[in-house]
Amino acid sequence: MAQECGVRVLCRFRPLNESEVKRGSKHIRYGGSDTVVVSGKPYMFDQVFPPNTTQEQVYESCAKDTVRDVLSGYNGTIFTYGQTSSGKTHTMEGRLHDPQMMGIIPRIAHDIFDHIYSMQENLEFHIKVSYFEIYLEKIRDLLDVSKTNLAVHENKNRVPYVKGCTERFVSSPEEMMEVIDDGKANRHVAVTNMNEHSSRSHSIFLINIKQEHLDTAHKLTGKLYLVDLAGSEKVSKTGAAGTVLDEARMINKSLSALGNVISALAEGTKTHVPYRDSKMTRILQDSLGGNCRTTIIICCSPSFSNEAETRSTLLFGQRAKSIRNTVCVNLELTAEEWKKKYDKEKQKGVDMRELVEKLQTELHHWRIGVCIPVMEQLSDKKQEVPCEHTAIARNGLAADVLESVQYEENINNLYKLLDDKDEEINLQTQLVEKMRLQLEVQEEILASSQQDCARVQGELCSLQRDNQEMRGEVREVLGALEELALKCDEKSREVSSLTLTDHRLSEQLVVKNEMLEATQSEIEELQELDAVQKRRTVDVLRVLLRDLGDMGTTICVQEIKMVCEDGVSLDDEFSVVRLFLTKLKSELKSLINRTKQLESTQEHASIKIQASERELASCHTVVSQYQVKIRSLTECVQKAEETRRALEITQHTLEEELTTLRTYESNQDLCELEKKKELLKINRSQQSQCPLIEGPRETPSDMLVQLREEFNNKQKMLNELKELNETLVLEQKRLQFEYETLRVQEQEKEIRLQELTMSNEKMENITDELRDFEETLARQLQSLHNLRKMFVQDLTTRVKKSNGPDREDGGGRVLHKHKISFLENNLEQLTKVHKQMMRENSELRCDLPKLEKRVCVMTERVKALECALREAKQRASRERSLYRQEVDRIKDAIRAKNMACCGHATLTAKPIRAGHHHTFSAGRGGPIVYSYHHV
Ligand code: ADP
Ligand code: MG
Repeated sequence: MAQECGVRVLCRFRPLNESEVKRGSKHIRYGGSDTVVVSGKPYMFDQVFPPNTTQEQVYESCAKDTVRDVLSGYNGTIFTYGQTSSGKTHTMEGRLHDPQMMGIIPRIAHDIFDHIYSMQENLEFHIKVSYFEIYLEKIRDLLDVSKTNLAVHENKNRVPYVKGCTERFVSSPEEMMEVIDDGKANRHVAVTNMNEHSSRSHSIFLINIKQEHLDTAHKLTGKLYLVDLAGSEKVSKTGAAGTVLDEARMINKSLSALGNVISALAEGTKTHVPYRDSKMTRILQDSLGGNCRTTIIICCSPSFSNEAETRSTLLFGQRAKSIRNTVCVNLELTAEEWKKKYDKEKQKGVDMRELVEKLQTELHHWRIGVCIPVMEQLSDKKQEVPCEHTAIARNGLAADVLESVQYEENINNLYKLLDDKDEEINLQTQLVEKMRLQLEVQEEILASSQQDCARVQGELCSLQRDNQEMRGEVREVLGALEELALKCDEKSREVSSLTLTDHRLSEQLVVKNEMLEATQSEIEELQELDAVQKRRTVDVLRVLLRDLGDMGTTICVQEIKMVCEDGVSLDDEFSVVRLFLTKLKSELKSLINRTKQLESTQEHASIKIQASERELASCHTVVSQYQVKIRSLTECVQKAEETRRALEITQHTLEEELTTLRTYESNQDLCELEKKKELLKINRSQQSQCPLIEGPRETPSDMLVQLREEFNNKQKMLNELKELNETLVLEQKRLQFEYETLRVQEQEKEIRLQELTMSNEKMENITDELRDFEETLARQLQSLHNLRKMFVQDLTTRVKKSNGPDREDGGGRVLHKHKISFLENNLEQLTKVHKQMMRENSELRCDLPKLEKRVCVMTERVKALECALREAKQRASRERSLYRQEVDRIKDAIRAKNMACCGHATLTAKPIRAGHHHTFSAGRGGPIVYSYHHV
């Protein structure tokens, strides 16, 4: 099964770069496809790629077969060796996503899957990849930057592997490319100068392919290491020094270890191959002289300036070319096969144990001197394998073999020990790394907490400064307060003295106030009274005004109109009243005049009346006389009437007698005449009793006529007198009436006058009262003013007394006045100052608790800050411990997760079925893949 094969060495020359072209140095000659002549010396390799070789050509010649081999269950390794900038990375990686310029790794990523897709369907593949770099003999996981120093372990087949490195399952070329991209990105992250870093570190991309035949359950595994080595140039050339030199030595160490390993393997005589000299050689242990199809691409510069390096590279290649590897398919046995093998081995062990026992008994016999016959001795025929041993032993070589076996064992033990130590060292370094990280974290925390502390201290300092300042301020304030307190004391003393005086004055003032209050109460009473009086006055006035108005109306003063409204003010009313009164006065005057006139007329009238009365009386007497006369006349008339009637009767009789007499006249005229005469004489005698009848003795007819005329005249006179009497009575009556009305008017006017005079008197009284009240008020005010003056004077004198006894001398009154004014000014100023002081004192008293509070707050703040600082420190320490715990926890969790992930990933890894395009790759169907395919 195992077959020997040599390591393939391919040589690639990069094109000259611009500066090299300018120098135009050409010293390389390519002799066919496998030979290159440098400085006249030919070097033969499996293939030599001249500078114009394309990436694809390189891949086709050196990697394609390896991919196929790996997919067939072999291990494969492709690594590039050469000086810096000789094209190693270009060859291995190239431009990752450029179909033309992509190097071996991306091409493999695509090619593997292309192969798988073209393979038979009953194969299932599991591909997982790892990506790490070795820098300064530390393996750093490029897929998990937290893994900075991984250890190399050996599996049960004693094949070294990087323990704990991240393995990612990929199911498509894109995924694989993603992993490469991630790794490259991570490689860039921690590095400042990538060129330097890449030239000093070895990057290893590992593809692990596991395939299972679904029908036969046969499992094949293949590992493909794709290594981009660090620059192989000598340290001296780089001119490195110090840490860089150490670094270079370390790099060189690993490269020299590689050289040593290759030399050891190339020589083939040495039993010991120093794989363990470096991690890189350890990892590539299987690739160099082990179970691996290895391809080394030595990259060279065609430039003359790099000739030495090129030659050394070429020599390295030549040496490596002589390495022989033993390759075999990595077949994983099935359970049955394992069981069979186990049974076989078990039987072998049992046989071996039996043989050993037999040999031991024989040996024992020999040792005790018992000679064992040849026939009984264990022979070659009896036991094949032991026979060998015994034969060797017997041949004297047994010791050597045993020695070598022992040596092997020892070496193995030592290796184991070395591995253990290595692991221990790794663990320790990991621990150290962890500790370093922790230390860094702690340092960071410490730095931050120191910064915090410094900040807090700064704050504290500033606060302390503030505090100091505040204290100073407070001290100043306290000093000022003390001063103020002293001043305040002085002032309070002054105030106390002043308060005493003030007390006294206030007592006086109280008395005065009482007086004032009494006065005020009196005033109030008076005011009330006044108000009442006023009200009353107003009412009276109103009434008066109304009366006046009425009076005005009664006096028929149409022009004067009394406006007595409620809304009009008293003054207005007064003015109106005054106006009215003046008018009324004038009216009254006119009325009085008129009254006087009337009185005079009345007097005249009364005189007249008296005269009339007298006249009337005389008339009455006349009337009575006349009446008497009339009565007498009437009696006379009646008598005359009676006489007339008697006369008429007599006349009638006489006439009759006359007639008779006439008749008789003739006869007796004379006699009858005589008789008549006698009768007339009798009448006359009868009439002689009445004087009126007396008169000339006329004839009776004349007398009658006269009497009649007289009677008529008398009648006329009587009628006239009656008429006159009536008119006089009427006139008298009228006059009487007028007189009566005038009297009534006079009486009314008198009443009104009396009322007016009374109201006037009242008004005068009220005005007098008001005047009195005003006078009393003025007096009281004056007394108050005087009191105030007295108080001020008293105060001034007191102040003067307090300021010092007056040194009265004969300086005159002016000086005295000046002094007084000065003292008054002083007093005023002192009062002002006192007031101000009082104000300030009260303000300060107000401010004092504030300031005290502020001081308290400041001290509290300082205390709080100190507490906060203490707490911050405690918290920082607590947080530090917590952070440490957290970091540990996270690390544990990550570790556990990784473990779980590995396990889980193994369980859930998407198997890649041969003969099918993966959905992902098909879905994403990158043009890179297909373009690459059709190239
Ligand atoms: P190394 O990895 O060995 O230090 P690089 O691979 O980084 O060197 O190559 C250095 C430079 O030379 C890069 O710019 C690269 O593109 C260029 N270069 C190397 N080999 C070739 C080549 N075969 N064709 C074109 N350019 C190349
Ligand atoms: Mg490189």
